[in-house]
Amino acid sequence: MDTSLAEVLGDARQYLEFLKDIGCTSIGGGEKGRKIAEQWHDEAPALQQNIPLLQKHISNCRRCRLADEREAVVFGQGDPEAGLMFIGPFPEAEDPDTRIPYSGEAGALLTRIIEAIGQSRGSVYICHAVKCRPTSDRLPDRFEAGACRHWLKRQIRAVCPQVICVLGGFATQALLKIDEPVSRLRGRFHEYEGISVMPTYEPAYLLVNPAAKRAVWEDMKKIMAIMGD
Ligand code: SF4
Repeated sequence: MDTSLAEVLGDARQYLEFLKDIGCTSIGGGEKGRKIAEQWHDEAPALQQNIPLLQKHISNCRRCRLADEREAVVFGQGDPEAGLMFIGPFPEAEDPDTRIPYSGEAGALLTRIIEAIGQSRGSVYICHAVKCRPTSDRLPDRFEAGACRHWLKRQIRAVCPQVICVLGGFATQALLKIDEPVSRLRGRFHEYEGISVMPTYEPAYLLVNPAAKRAVWEDMKKIMAIMGD
């Protein structure tokens, strides 16, 4: 199926599920039905910006074939009103068990980076571009990243951070749709729906390339500067 058609059908299904959540049991015709439909249309976007409701819907998501591979959906963690949001590529090996993004070795390094800029895992928001980890040893493909963008977009709108830090090339490409290596994109701010976006190296990459930590620190200093601290 064409990706855009699949997205439209997926959106329609999600919209109907949101309508069910707000108590609608049928869609009737006539003037009364039209008014109810208009009211649903006004209310549904607000519900889409509600993190707990988003989490409930994503837990049953079957928008891509990772639904058959995953052990669990790893949604996100942190302050749902955080000023700073970190977006990694897809769950680490440990994450499906803990249901927490970045709960493994790379996550421990991310925690140290967050603490180095005077924040904590509870004061920022952390998630992945793709919420389900492939069980086989492969990266999510373009279709899967595109399908999960549906959720990422809504999650970003719900948190509405001042700054997004995207970790690594996969997450950067998934968010910004720029097909360039992170080494060329990092070090300067980009923009996504009016939000400042700083790409930097992924913590798992830093574990095997510690020399790149210096560049990450430079990127963090720019984030601190734009956030006023
Ligand atoms: S990866 Fe994203 S789009 Fe695919 S099934 Fe998981 S939550 Fe749904």
